[in-house]
Amino acid sequence: MKTTEISCLCGAVKVQLNGEPVTQFYCHCDDCQAASGGAYIGIAIYPSDAVTVTQGELTAWTLKTLPRQRCAICGTHMIAQVPGLAECGVMANLLPTGTFKPEFHIQCQYAVLPVKDNLPHFKSFPASFGGSDEIINW
Ligand SMILES: [Zn+2]
Ligand SMILES: [Zn+2]
Repeated sequence: MKTTEISCLCGAVKVQLNGEPVTQFYCHCDDCQAASGGAYIGIAIYPSDAVTVTQGELTAWTLKTLPRQRCAICGTHMIAQVPGLAECGVMANLLPTGTFKPEFHIQCQYAVLPVKDNLPHFKSFPASFGGSDEIINW
């Protein structure tokens, strides 16, 4: 099975990802905006049991509902366990160059910087996430 190792920016924490992500996307929600300081972030979703901390210590911090796991030393936001689901979001900026292949955008109702690309732009979430499946046209 393919394994991918990601590291925080100071190198203290290493996380191993087994296999391929379930899905990959950009999230424009106000929670991600506030937590990252950016307009949107890239996320790769892995099954929770495919994500293992192999070195160092993560500390959890929650802005609203999503517990974001950060390096206890440098504060790099690395992963986020989705509450109630056996799925874990991995910050795409930590993935090896070229491996992040987003399939769509979510939570575009909060977007402060519309992205004009050829991917679907969901107003909230796609139906497969339990959302309205409604598309925004930018
Ligand atoms: Zn670190
Ligand atoms: Zn978000």
